[in-house]
Amino acid sequence: MIIKFREGTEQKDIAELKAKLRADGFELHESVGETYTILGLIGDTSKLDPNSFYAYSFIDSVVRIQEPYKKVNRKFKLDDTIVDVGGVKIGGNNVVLIAGPCAIETPAQIDLITHLVQDAGAKVIRGGAFKPRTSPYSFQGLGIEGLELLNTVRQKYHIPVASEIMSTEDLPYFIKYVDLIQVGARNMQNFALLKELGKIKKPILLKRGLANTIEEWLMSAEYILSGGNENVILCERGIRTFETSTRNTLDISSVAVIKRLTHLPIIIDPSHAAGRWEYIESLSKAAIAAGADGLIIEVHPEPEKALSDGQQSLKPERFADLVKKLRRVAEAVDRTLE
Ligand code: PEP
Ligand code: MN
Repeated sequence: MIIKFREGTEQKDIAELKAKLRADGFELHESVGETYTILGLIGDTSKLDPNSFYAYSFIDSVVRIQEPYKKVNRKFKLDDTIVDVGGVKIGGNNVVLIAGPCAIETPAQIDLITHLVQDAGAKVIRGGAFKPRTSPYSFQGLGIEGLELLNTVRQKYHIPVASEIMSTEDLPYFIKYVDLIQVGARNMQNFALLKELGKIKKPILLKRGLANTIEEWLMSAEYILSGGNENVILCERGIRTFETSTRNTLDISSVAVIKRLTHLPIIIDPSHAAGRWEYIESLSKAAIAAGADGLIIEVHPEPEKALSDGQQSLKPERFADLVKKLRRVAEAVDRTLE
């Protein structure tokens, strides 16, 4: 349930009503806008009569929230959430580029890519250390050693880093070495993992599951926020459809839907959506034009030798060329891509 106060309501009136609702057992979520304040109620509101609030002269409106997600709901928070990833702000008017290899392979590989994509305009480096591979015979990632290599470039180049977590037991290493913890598509509904990530404050990049609805995706985000971690960025990476000419189908409409339903930022992963490097440019331009807050793109110096996802990885020079084009798209839709 959302309670909207009239413009100019006195603080003491808001405080009194809050104290009463708290005493009645509700969890409260206050959002202060420029002209008015709203109060979100979480709990069993079924016994509350919305009309009873109109007895107070300072109440503007009271509405029930139909959606099962509360804290991520746009109706609960007036302003867009801006997530600070090691000093890089994701959300608001910025378009942020995250780039790097699918998997960290060697010290030289991650060092070279970091240097090249940072020069080209990437503000966060991605690099997988724990890889969720379909085949147990495929390269599984360097594990903790990979995170240590990521930490080395993070310190050398003063740039935040993102990496995927697969198990709660690795969380202490992620807290130490990683600025943005990625939950991969295959783990979007790993509720035990989501609960643990709710207990920390590090930013979480929550990818959409391969075959999950937007509502299911938002319920997964709700797990993290309800645990106390409000630093969540959503990532659309394409979903399974009957189409086989791309690896997944990029659901570009999710950007528009997400912007309406939630205050959380959303970025697009054109690499896993397309599955082929030739399509990255088109999907990236579309993502920015549609209103995405950023992109996460796979880049490898020698894609033909990559241990994972080479077919969808851009060479660094192609990435640099792409960034120039994307700056013009961002400018055309009044966004800032530094
Ligand atoms: C990845 O980012 O390399 C990855 C495995 O992505 P997804 O979880 O979207 O498949
Ligand atoms: Mn990949």
